[in-house]
Amino acid sequence: MATERTIEEIVTPTPVSEGAGVRLRRSIATRHLDYLDPFLLFDHFGSEDPADYLAGFPMHPHRGIETVTYMLDGSVAHADSLGNSGVIGAGDVQWMTAGSGILHEEMPKAGPRRLDGFQVWVNLPAKLKLTRPRYQDVAAAKIPELVRPDGVSVRVVAGVVDGVAGAVKEIHAEPEYLDVSLPANRTFEQPVPRGHTALAYVFQGEVSFGEASDAASGRVAATRLVVLGDGDVVRVSTGERPARLLLLSGKPLGEPVARYGPFVMNTAEEIRETLRELREGTFIRP
Ligand code: MN
Repeated sequence: MATERTIEEIVTPTPVSEGAGVRLRRSIATRHLDYLDPFLLFDHFGSEDPADYLAGFPMHPHRGIETVTYMLDGSVAHADSLGNSGVIGAGDVQWMTAGSGILHEEMPKAGPRRLDGFQVWVNLPAKLKLTRPRYQDVAAAKIPELVRPDGVSVRVVAGVVDGVAGAVKEIHAEPEYLDVSLPANRTFEQPVPRGHTALAYVFQGEVSFGEASDAASGRVAATRLVVLGDGDVVRVSTGERPARLLLLSGKPLGEPVARYGPFVMNTAEEIRETLRELREGTFIRP
């Protein structure tokens, strides 16, 4: 029989200042929750005030991870050492595999409404830490959006819902990245492989998980990250208010983690080697 995934932990995001002074809300990569294998970081940037984000993230390196940027509103201009540049706009996703190393800048642009989006870091296994860097840039129109007869709608960034495959593919962690909108008094069920890490990020309204949909104790109001326990299926329900959440899952690596800022390797020696290559100008592989 299928087991529903229930709430294991509810995380209140921590306000932090990152990059050259961008104010954002962090739920993973904090003192409270350092790592939720394979997810190394979860940031939510959202503000109507450009002073909160215009400083941006000037040129900086990454190695050993993937960064996933998904925008709800506003836009971020990017450019990198591979010669890529462009703008991640509302509804777009950029799945960047840093692998052996990139240098890039990520600069939010002002207005016209608000800046709203997410960045998640997904760990790479030891065998792919030094893989060739690559991008999957997906424009909003290329992200499948399905609307069920009951009005529940899902943007499938990665993974499969109702037989519809997401836009981002061939990622080691076999991730699922869904943007789920529920009207009031609806339920959304999604199978998630047993053993995979699963989390939900509730950013609008209020939801409950599992059978306890009528129990006040099972409700989670925005804005919170919810770590879900193991099982076969995620069941999320709304009450009198509509809600919107991200549902993420991925295969844990179970490998040692040595992290130092934007570099995540398996050993301290690999971090020292990375810093040495940065000093000596050999960080970017030909
Ligand atoms: Mn970056």
